[in-house]
Amino acid sequence: MTTALPCPLCGSTNLSANLWILDHGEVDAVECNECYCGAPVTAWQNRASPAATIHATGHLTAWEYG
Ligand SMILES: [Zn+2]
Repeated sequence: MTTALPCPLCGSTNLSANLWILDHGEVDAVECNECYCGAPVTAWQNRASPAATIHATGHLTAWEYG
């Protein structure tokens, strides 16, 4: 397995590889042991940048508390 990038949310490298069972089958996933976020490994490794992810999350939070 290739080395996973640090967590996009908290920057942790304390990660677990996992197997997610989804409607369309099994996918390899990465989960963070610090903040408990996770993503399929393709999405985890192919994000635009950590800053972009944090910006998107902040936008979501602002929407929730709108
Ligand atoms: Zn994390």
